[in-house]
Amino acid sequence: HSKNTGKNQVRFYDEELEQSERRRHQLEDELSQAITNEEFLLYYQPQVDAEGTTILKAEVLLRWQHPRHGIVNPDEFIPHLEEYGLIIPVGKWILEESCRQLKVWHNAGKHELCLSINVSANQFKHPDFIEFIEICLIKHQISGEQIELELTEGVAIHDIPSTIKKMDRLQELGIRIALDDFGTGYSSLSYLKHLPINTLKIDQSFVQGLPHDGYDAAIVETTMVMAHHLGLTVVAEGVENRVQLAFLKKQQCHLYQGFLFSQPLNVDRFSELIL
Ligand code: C2E
Ligand code: MG
Ligand code: MG
Ligand code: MG
Repeated sequence: HSKNTGKNQVRFYDEELEQSERRRHQLEDELSQAITNEEFLLYYQPQVDAEGTTILKAEVLLRWQHPRHGIVNPDEFIPHLEEYGLIIPVGKWILEESCRQLKVWHNAGKHELCLSINVSANQFKHPDFIEFIEICLIKHQISGEQIELELTEGVAIHDIPSTIKKMDRLQELGIRIALDDFGTGYSSLSYLKHLPINTLKIDQSFVQGLPHDGYDAAIVETTMVMAHHLGLTVVAEGVENRVQLAFLKKQQCHLYQGFLFSQPLNVDRFSELIL
């Protein structure tokens, strides 16, 4: 009798494994079809000055318009794009579509608007990355100064010299480089020392507790002082309320991004906001 139960359990376990395996395949299929079905779309979140009146830049944020589940946020599917190698084609689409849309806004009169585009470590490491960007800029008649790339320190983990070379080349094109989620990694300061960075994005986890949390306050204050010494531009992420804003203003933070000013917006709503 006990033998029998054991067998059943094994079979049950097999079926469960099989089922999760099927789900994996289904997700992989869905994600690769999402490219051809044009289910990916870009949202834009303003980065404003200290007065909150001028939109100087916008961060491009990926969304997936799933046929059954509606809009899916990137934290739920980007890890899978990475896993299946799909971040390379999707990343190319993001760069291409960002440049195309930026040109539309420039042509509509917003000549000063810049876009800040997230780039995953695998995308950055791809041998064609720089060439693809160069072609993209020429094709859409965008100058490098109008683009910023948001990288996390994951880009440099394996090979600092080749990372520096690539970043130098991007800067020759006029493209600025932002270190995203600053302070959350294992060696943010070491990367700051070695890599040619223009912008720090203070992670929202440090902005959240301002001004009452002593650790958040100390970390943000120190980061601001350091950034000023190093001539870096600082963007505060996740600014949700006026007390956080007041604290950041006192530290002379350069740019502010967060729900206090605007949620990430789809292309129509962002157009309405700026045009
Ligand atoms: P991130 O680059 O750090 O982007 C900031 C995230 O904070 C966005 O989440 C944004 O919607 C959210 N956010 C903005 N303001 C506030 C606020 O005031 N409060 C709170 N609680 N959150 C705020 P989102 O759009 O879900 O993106 C999550 C992450 O997914 C991004 O973090 C980035 O790492 C990744 N991601 C998004 N788009 C892309 C992309 O095009 N390519 C790549 N490689 N990664 C992307
Ligand atoms: Mg970002
Ligand atoms: Mg960030
Ligand atoms: Mg983040």
